[in-house]
Amino acid sequence: MTPESNPYRLDRRVVPSAYRLFLTPNLDTATFEGRVEIDVEIVEPLRELKLNAIELTLGAATVTVAGTGHRSHDIVLDEAYETATFLFDTDLPRGNAVVEIAFDGILNDQLRGFYRSTFTDPSGVKQTIATTQFENTDARRCFPCWDEPAFKATYQVNLTVPSQLAAYSNAALISDTDLGNGQRTVSFAPTMKMSTYLVAFVVGPFEETAALDVDGVPLRIVYPVGNGHLTELALECGAFALRFFSNYFDIPYPGDKLDMVAIPDFAQGAMENLGCITYRMPDLLIDPSKASLGEMKRVAKVVMHEIAHMWFGDLVTMEWWQGIWLNEAFATFMEVLCQDAFRPQWEVWVTFSAERDLALEIDGLHATRPVEYTVVSPDDTRGMFDRLTYEKGAAVLRMMEQYLGADVYRDGIRHYLRKHSYANTITTDLWDALEEVSREPVRDVMNTWILQGGYPMVTLENGAISQLPFAYGPTTGDSAIGTSWKIPVMTRSLKGGVSTTHLLGDSPVPVTNDPPVVLNARGPGYYRSRYGVAETAALADHMDELDALERATVVSDGWAFLFSSQISADQFFTVARGLGVQDEPTPWGTLAIAVNFIDRALPREQSAGLVAVVRDIFEPQFDRLGWDPSPGEGELTPQMRSIVLGTLGTTGNNADIKAEAVRRFEANDMPGDLANSILRIVAAQDRPGDYETFIDRYTNAPSPQEEQRYQRALMGFSEERVALDAADRCFNFFRSQDASILIGLLSSNATTGPAVWKVATARWDQAITTFPTNTLSYLTHGVRTFINDPAFADVVETFHRDHPLGGEQKAVQQNLERMRVGLTFAAAMRAQLQ
Ligand SMILES: [Zn+2]
Repeated sequence: MTPESNPYRLDRRVVPSAYRLFLTPNLDTATFEGRVEIDVEIVEPLRELKLNAIELTLGAATVTVAGTGHRSHDIVLDEAYETATFLFDTDLPRGNAVVEIAFDGILNDQLRGFYRSTFTDPSGVKQTIATTQFENTDARRCFPCWDEPAFKATYQVNLTVPSQLAAYSNAALISDTDLGNGQRTVSFAPTMKMSTYLVAFVVGPFEETAALDVDGVPLRIVYPVGNGHLTELALECGAFALRFFSNYFDIPYPGDKLDMVAIPDFAQGAMENLGCITYRMPDLLIDPSKASLGEMKRVAKVVMHEIAHMWFGDLVTMEWWQGIWLNEAFATFMEVLCQDAFRPQWEVWVTFSAERDLALEIDGLHATRPVEYTVVSPDDTRGMFDRLTYEKGAAVLRMMEQYLGADVYRDGIRHYLRKHSYANTITTDLWDALEEVSREPVRDVMNTWILQGGYPMVTLENGAISQLPFAYGPTTGDSAIGTSWKIPVMTRSLKGGVSTTHLLGDSPVPVTNDPPVVLNARGPGYYRSRYGVAETAALADHMDELDALERATVVSDGWAFLFSSQISADQFFTVARGLGVQDEPTPWGTLAIAVNFIDRALPREQSAGLVAVVRDIFEPQFDRLGWDPSPGEGELTPQMRSIVLGTLGTTGNNADIKAEAVRRFEANDMPGDLANSILRIVAAQDRPGDYETFIDRYTNAPSPQEEQRYQRALMGFSEERVALDAADRCFNFFRSQDASILIGLLSSNATTGPAVWKVATARWDQAITTFPTNTLSYLTHGVRTFINDPAFADVVETFHRDHPLGGEQKAVQQNLERMRVGLTFAAAMRAQLQ
C-alpha cells in the first residue's frame, strides 16, 4: 500500500512547518482549553482542510493566506480515522498560510494524550499533575495536527498554569509572565523540526535539580516534590550518555536542554520526547545505597536508551509506523553499548544475552512474526512493541556490528544520521548506508532476519557447519518461522588463535579451526548452537576456557533444547555442572529459571530427585558465598549470591536458608541485592500476617524500587485468599500502569495462578477498559506456566481465542503456544525424573 492509498494517512496538499500552541489546563476540573496557530504551505488550491483530531471540541478554523482570512463554515469529524475536515466556501489559494483553531478537551485518566496523574506528597497531601504521552498517535487528543511522523515541523509551546505549579516542555524556557490572577504563562523556545509524537509538556508540583552543564547542554532531573535525594544516578548516567552519543554519532545533541522527568502514572517505561524525556518513577529515581545492581542497571539502561533516541528517532525518524521497530531496536543496541562503556565491570553484553533469550523464546514459536511487517493503521503497531522489536532487533544489529567491525558499523551509522537529519527514513536507508561504508551485502543479510520470523540452529558436525530452523515444537498449522538465513557465524579454537567469521547460507561450510571449537564465538549470534557427538565430547571438559558470554550462551542453548524436548534433563544438568565457580549471574539465572520450571512440572511426591540435584549444584556456591558480602568481592557477586539463595530457599527447600530469610525480613534488614530473593523465599512460606506486612511496606515504601519489589513479590504467595486479594487490588488499589503486569505475575504462581486467571478473566471487560491499552497482553503472561493440566489449557485457549486483544493478540497467541510446548515439556520431565 502506498502512502497515498492508505486511508489512515493525510494527503500532502497542505504541509505544516511550524506550530504555536497555547494551552490552559485546569487540573481541578480535568479539562483544558487551547488554541493553535500553524504555519502551512498550501500546495494546491482546495476547499477543505483535513487534519487529525479526536476527543476535542473544535471551533472554526481560520486560514490566513496572502493577507486574507478565510473562516470554515462547517467541520466533518471522522471517528474511525480520527480526522477533522474543515469546510470552506471558496478555494484556499496556493501559498504560505497560517491556520488558527481554538479547541478544548479533557485531561483523561487513560495515560495517553494529555492526561492526569496523581501522587501523595511527603506531607500526605494528594497532588495532581497534567502530563502528555503522544506516541504513537495521541497528540491528536491534545491539539489538532498533522499527526504522522513524516509531517515534521517546529513547535513553540505556551502554557498558562496556576502560579505555584512548575511547567516543562521540549525546549528551553524563554519567558514566564505573571498574569496577576493566580495564573502565569510559561513560554518555551521553538523546537527543532520534528514529529508530533515527540511533543511533550508536564505541569504540576515538581522540583528539579540544578542544571548540570554537559559540554554546553543543561541537564536536569525533574521529580514530584520530595524525591530530590533519588536523582544522583540518573544525572550521572544522563551526562555520560550525552557525551557518549555526541561522540559516537559525531553530531552534537540536537536539543537546547535536556530535562528527564519522573511521572507517577506512566504506561510505558519511558518516552523519548526531545529535550523532555518522561519516565516511570523506578526507571529514573533511585537510591544506589539501597538498590540492587539489577535496579541500578535498569535506570542506566532506560536513561541511555532514551538519550540514544534523541539522535536515532528524534533527529532521524521513521517515515511511517512500520519503521518503529528499527527505532527501538537501534536504541536498545545503543543502550547496551553505552552501558558497557559506562561500567565495563557490569558485563552488560552478558546481561543482554539473557534479554536476547526472551526474544529467542518467543521467536522459536510458530506464532512468532517477522520483525518488520506491513502497517496500515496505527493500531497495527500495537503488536510491534515487544521482545522481537527491542531484543531481537538489537541482537541482529549487534550481530551485524560484530560482523562488519565496530568502527565500520559506527561510520555507517554516522553517514546515515548525517544524510537524513531532520528528515524521515525507511529501514533500507540504514542498510544502504552501512553497505556504502562497508561494501558488504548488508541488505541481503538483514532481510533474512527482519522480513521472516524465527531463527536457525547452527550445527557443527564432522568439521562443517550447517543450518536448520529452530522450533520449540512441531507445527500444527501455519508457521511464521522462516526456512533459511544468511548467518554471520564466528568460530574459534579453544587452543587459541583468532576467531573465524563465516557467512553461512544454505550449503554447509567447512570449519578449519583446531578442535575443540566453539560456535558463536564471543557470543554475538542470534541463533542456537548445536554440536555433534565428537564435538560435544571435545568441548565438555573445556567449559572453563569459554568466556562469560559464551558460557551464558551454552547454558541458554541447553535450556532451549531441554524445553523443546531435544535433550534430556540429565544432559542439561551435565552442562550446568560445567559452570564451575565463576560469579556469573547470567548463566546461573538461566539455570535457576530452568529448575523452577522443572519443579513446576513435577508433582510433590516426585520432586525429591530434583531437590537433590538442585542442592548438589547450588549448595557449593552457597558455601563459597554465604549470606554476607566479603571484603573486595566483585560487583557481580551479590547478584550471584541472590540467585543461589533464592533457588535454595524455594526449589532447593533448604530449611536454614528459609529460616534466615524470615529473620532478615522480620528485622527489615535486606540489602538491595538480596531483597528480592528474601521476599520470594518468605512469600513462598505463606506465614500468617506476612501478606499484610508486604502491603504495608509497599504503601510506605521510601523509594520506587522498594515499592516495586513488594508489589511484584506478591506473586510468591500460594495461599488462595491472599492471591485473590492481590488480584482484586489490581482493580482498585494499585496504579493502573501496574495492573496488567501484576495480574500476569500473580497468575504465574504454580499453586494459585489458575485461580487468579479465572478471577481476572471473569472481570475481563473491566480490565480491558481500565488498564492502559499497551499493557493488556501482560494479562495473559501467566498462561505460559499452565503446563500440568491439558483440560484446563483447553479452557484457557478457548477463552483467549474468543476474547482477542486487538493489536496485541499476537502476543496472546505466543503465550498460548508456549503453554502447549510447556505441557509436552512437563510430561517429559515427569517421565524422566522418577
Ligand atoms: Zn525506545
